[in-house]
Amino acid sequence: MLTVNNLTKKYGKVLANDNISFSIPDGSVTALLGPNGAGKSTIIKSVMGFLKYQGTIIVDGHFNKTLEAKRIMGYIPEMPALYPNLTVMEHMEFIARAYRLKDYKSYAEELLERMELSDKKKKFGDELSKGMQQKLSICCGLLPKPKIALFDEPMIGLDPHAIKELKNIFVEIRESGCSLLISTHMIDSIDMLWDRTLIMQNGKVMADVCKSQLSQSGQSLEDLFFAVTENLSSPTFDTGKEN
Ligand code: ADP
Repeated sequence: MLTVNNLTKKYGKVLANDNISFSIPDGSVTALLGPNGAGKSTIIKSVMGFLKYQGTIIVDGHFNKTLEAKRIMGYIPEMPALYPNLTVMEHMEFIARAYRLKDYKSYAEELLERMELSDKKKKFGDELSKGMQQKLSICCGLLPKPKIALFDEPMIGLDPHAIKELKNIFVEIRESGCSLLISTHMIDSIDMLWDRTLIMQNGKVMADVCKSQLSQSGQSLEDLFFAVTENLSSPTFDTGKEN
């Protein structure tokens, strides 16, 4: 369970997150949707404890900046940050040592296989294409089997096979009880996978919608997105005012 309460983050005069609150129960997917600059990455980086901010973030009962919280969080950044002098397999070993994982090898092999990196195990980080780097970054983030998984624009740069596998992985880890927060500006990439979506604009949550609410309304997620972000019509949902 991830709980974000009254998160406010300013970069100088830019209000990137304006008093945002939400929680993600175990075994569910929350999608963060919004145009570029809406404040999605800032939420994710705040949850990971990388930024100074106002508000409270609790991860499974622990403040997010504690070691207990960090042990159970997985982060897949927008830009892969690999080690140029470690091979693909050494990245997996590095993560396994950092998280003190035992018996990680078969899961590492499975992840690399699913991301079609099995034949790249001896390649160095800086020998990988952008898409391969993104795939390895996903494998690194998933290897510790996080209880809270944060994906920042995870589909960018991936080929169709990797996108399909990643969607399957989202479903599998949700079923295993993981709380997922997935940011994207590509609505199609997340459709059918989310349980709740927060639509953001200018640092604010403009709509906060459960899948059942949207189904009942007969609107598509795309309809709602444009209604909210381009004022095409009044959204019929919670506009996040309690935030
Ligand atoms: P998104 O992930 O939705 O594209 P971000 O959270 O990256 O949005 O950015 C939200 C706002 O904060 C934008 O106006 C962006 O320019 C600004 N911003 C993000 N990172 C920084 C930074 N390190 N320094 C100054 N401004 C930043």
